[in-house]
Amino acid sequence: MTVGPALDLELYPKTVTEYEYDVPADETPATTCPYCERPFRSERYVTYHLGVSHPEELTDDERAAFEDEREDEEFDLLTFHVKAAVTVFMTYFVFTFLYALVWAG
Ligand SMILES: [Zn+2]
Repeated sequence: MTVGPALDLELYPKTVTEYEYDVPADETPATTCPYCERPFRSERYVTYHLGVSHPEELTDDERAAFEDEREDEEFDLLTFHVKAAVTVFMTYFVFTFLYALVWAG
């Protein structure tokens, strides 16, 4: 079986969002990748790039930084889910309360 372009895209979805990490030509990059010299706008992006593109060359420190960033991201997502759930619950509660109030009065 041959691996076509469509499957490549599925296996490496990061190519779709990669432009977000590109630094515009008129901007001085904050930092560059120590392995492939690619410019980045912030340390955070390099940390991600190292973990995704150079997992084999990472030092222990760089790997730890990548793991940290990933955990932060997961925590942010969890916080968002909790907030969304609480908002939905509160909306439901308020409407139920108003409904009861209208029928009691
Ligand atoms: Zn690189």
